[in-house]
Amino acid sequence: MTNRMLSFVNNEKQMPDKRAAEERRQDFREIYDEFDPKRAETQASRCSQCGIPFCQVHCPLQNNIPDWLMLTAEGRLEEAYEVSSATNNMPEVCGRICPQDRLCEGNCVIEKGFESVTIGSVEKYITDTAWEKGWVKPPKPKKELGRSVGIIGAGPGGLAAAEQLRKKGYEIHVYDRYDRVGGLMIYGIPGFKLEKEVIIRRWKLLEEGGITFHLNCEIGKDVTLDQLRLRHDAVLIATGVYKARAIKVPGVGLDGVVPALDYLTASNRQGLGDSVPRLEDGTLNAEGKDVVVVGGGDTAMDCVRTAVRQGAKSVKCVYRRDRANMPGSQREVYNAEEEGVEFVWLAAPEAFVGDGKVDGVRVQRVHLGVPDSTGRQVPKVIPDSSYTIKADLAIKALGFDPEDVPTMFGAPDLTVSQWGTIKIDFRTMMTKVPGVFAAGDIVRGASLVVWAIKDGRDAAEHIHAYCEAQAAEGAEKGADAKTHAAA
Ligand code: FAD
Ligand code: SF4
Ligand code: SF4
Repeated sequence: MTNRMLSFVNNEKQMPDKRAAEERRQDFREIYDEFDPKRAETQASRCSQCGIPFCQVHCPLQNNIPDWLMLTAEGRLEEAYEVSSATNNMPEVCGRICPQDRLCEGNCVIEKGFESVTIGSVEKYITDTAWEKGWVKPPKPKKELGRSVGIIGAGPGGLAAAEQLRKKGYEIHVYDRYDRVGGLMIYGIPGFKLEKEVIIRRWKLLEEGGITFHLNCEIGKDVTLDQLRLRHDAVLIATGVYKARAIKVPGVGLDGVVPALDYLTASNRQGLGDSVPRLEDGTLNAEGKDVVVVGGGDTAMDCVRTAVRQGAKSVKCVYRRDRANMPGSQREVYNAEEEGVEFVWLAAPEAFVGDGKVDGVRVQRVHLGVPDSTGRQVPKVIPDSSYTIKADLAIKALGFDPEDVPTMFGAPDLTVSQWGTIKIDFRTMMTKVPGVFAAGDIVRGASLVVWAIKDGRDAAEHIHAYCEAQAAEGAEKGADAKTHAAA
């Protein structure tokens, strides 16, 4: 092991510099600056090169973190990039938006009293440098296999599968109902977490590698699943989850009560230069308004911080549990607070109030009761505790469920779980329909980009095994037919 490592004793944990809250409130650019080479090397050298690296165990992609940290500490960045990109199709995305505090960094075992290695920022630094230096190459198969795969959905799950299969020599067609590639990475996640250029350059690279994108093409409407099955040797469904969870309280239909994804998509589209009438007419614009966001997950955090940047008068986040029990990343809560967001913990919405148009959210105070079967304390409403928070824009951010895919695709043979996610055989990732596979949020339920990438990569392996088996079977049948004919 190099003597450059183990420097956690002398060097404190440092993140890249963060722009001041007042400055970042003014724009949608990412909030962290890039590491400079010296700081990246120093931070990477804090790793103690564990025999059993728990960071790696808790990374969904099992990234070889200790190796690329050591190579970075030694200034061998091109090799570090080779190692990091061997297990991850979008390390620059994961380095930016993985909740590292719950995954790799949260499980870094640097001795007590010292903080974890800044793994995500180093991963981003390695890959951004690789892009700058031209080390990131389009997928290039050694030979064409003469087989094709159709992929429904150009989110991280679909894109990871597309790249892996293209490398093996498949002709790849990706179908998406959006007009741009990236799924929630392009229209859901705001630019201050993930700048759009990062996704667009991946899209262009995959096109350069020969992958064909059919955009504005909705499967189930423009093309049927059966048509795709006829066109391709295998099909992958990676359509994500988009049905907003409902809040069943009075007043939910008032003007000014809007779903989170409509709100975020409008803002992202505007940032990409599109004309967005519902943002321009004020419907999906927080400028000058008192804004209340209901929910405590990543989507709610993205909404509050978008509202700040649009110039809201005030922004509050209402959540029925407390800070310690919220699903969103603590890092994002901290960033939101720095930017001026107020959190109203232990409050459950009772009604949206207003005359035709919302002017307030009535909430009830809550205390946390005994834990349920999942171990989470159940929120209990405190009687006679209602009060109203002023709001001219209320954003519902309670999470997402799958759409009804069997009906949407006219494919009743696709079976779904009680939550509406597509059922697969976990040994093969194949659905009940032969040759049709599924991956990402549509199988797991709303999850993370890194898990979608993992699923896409696994699906690619299973699809390849399936196509090989089909080809072998076809060859066997052909040989049998010849033998019969000869006899
Ligand atoms: P998606 O990214 O949803 O992509 C699915 C694609 O399928 C879309 O492009 C869609 O247009 C297309 N599609 C759907 N139906 C059809 C059809 N019938 N025909 C053709 N195309 C279709 N994860 C993180 O790791 N970190 C974060 O910080 C984070 N923040 C988030 C913030 C928000 C606001 C949201 C909503 C999610 C966030 N996530 C985050 C979760 C992450 O974005 C998802 O887990 C991930 O994108 C799922 O990938 P996927 O490929 O399964 O689906
Ligand atoms: Fe950590 Fe995510 Fe990178 Fe894995 S992919 S090392 S979990 S930031
Ligand atoms: Fe290095 Fe921490 Fe991973 Fe150990 S757990 S190998 S110290 S990053």
